[in-house]
Amino acid sequence: MIDNASLLIGIAFSGAALVLALVIGWLNSRAETYLIHGATGIGLIVLAMVALGLRGDSYTLLTQLIPFPVMLAGLAYVYSGSRLFNYKPVRPALWIGSAAIILTFIPLALGLTGVGTLMLNLNAGVILALCGLECWRGRADVRLAMVANAIIYGLVAASFLACAIMLLVEGQWILDGPPDNLAEDINSIMSLVGLTGIGAITLTLHHARAARRHRMEANTDALTGVLNRRALFQAFSDNTPTTGLAVIMFDLDCFKQINDHLGHAHGDMVLVRFADVLRSELRHSDIIARIGGEEFCAILPGGDRDMAGHAAERVRRAFDDLALPGGSETETATVSAGLAAAGEGETFSSVLSRADTALYGAKEAGRNRVHIAPFRLVA
Ligand code: GH3
Ligand code: MG
Ligand code: MG
Repeated sequence: MIDNASLLIGIAFSGAALVLALVIGWLNSRAETYLIHGATGIGLIVLAMVALGLRGDSYTLLTQLIPFPVMLAGLAYVYSGSRLFNYKPVRPALWIGSAAIILTFIPLALGLTGVGTLMLNLNAGVILALCGLECWRGRADVRLAMVANAIIYGLVAASFLACAIMLLVEGQWILDGPPDNLAEDINSIMSLVGLTGIGAITLTLHHARAARRHRMEANTDALTGVLNRRALFQAFSDNTPTTGLAVIMFDLDCFKQINDHLGHAHGDMVLVRFADVLRSELRHSDIIARIGGEEFCAILPGGDRDMAGHAAERVRRAFDDLALPGGSETETATVSAGLAAAGEGETFSSVLSRADTALYGAKEAGRNRVHIAPFRLVA
């Protein structure tokens, strides 16, 4: 069998390589702070491992007083990283890390080296279990990788707890050499597997998240945050079943004048406010897209023509009532809408085109109104 010290050195080398990979990941996207927390955590654990690997068989206060708190601080950083990954505050990780260090330090300072070692294992197990719980809670995001991480954290946590239980059962309150039992051997192997496994999966999670962000950016209108034209026509083509769909086309009235009189920036703000109105007046399940400069399209699934008509009217009225900043008579903005409900077997482009014709009718009739396309005549 490989001796424990060699395993510890092995863990240190693989950990150092991971720190490098995580730091490079963080340098490429600084907003992903969980990467730098993970790197700092693994870095500290590596330092502690090197110290433990170099100590040989000596088990003095100095060889424990330094590496044990460093390792716990490292684990606390790994925990804060897993909290950041789930967009949670890091403060609890700070408290838990500090408590773990104090609880381990006190028995060591009192000369109870065995109790101190037990506390190290117990605290490490608890912090790792919390990391696993965090991954489990965030499993909706990149499910397989998060569940795998949760399982690995759980196994490593269990191996630390087993070391603590072993010391407790054997009543080893004072140690004059590193503990040497089966639990310790398993723990060294699990730590190596855990460090490399969790590190590699974390990098995978980072890439999956970045890819999803790029996908989202490609599908979102940068100004208003609703879907863009590309995303809408990717989701709805002539092969998409239209049963139960209603399409509403919106076009802001005399928008060119708003731009001309109040400036392009004010025009942009009006567009953003209109998108807000759409979001607040329509349901979560409705799809909203900006398909042109001041043209928006809403797709309402599972509703009839009357329901969609009421929704369009609600949007029109809410926008008309909106007090725009610096609003005077000339600064109010209105919208016209055209609505069509899909007929039996009708293609998406046909419904869209009928909604467009209805919108044209609303403009012709004087703007700031909703026109509903007549039911489609089936030949
Ligand atoms: P109508 O009531 O007939 O729809 O008149 P309109 O002035 O709204 O329509 P028109 O098509 O003549 O003008 C649309 C204007 O929208 C022209 C263009 O400068 C402006 N526009 C397009 N995209 C943007 C944008 O992203 N921001 C701003 N501020 N204006 C935009
Ligand atoms: Mg237009
Ligand atoms: Mg317009």
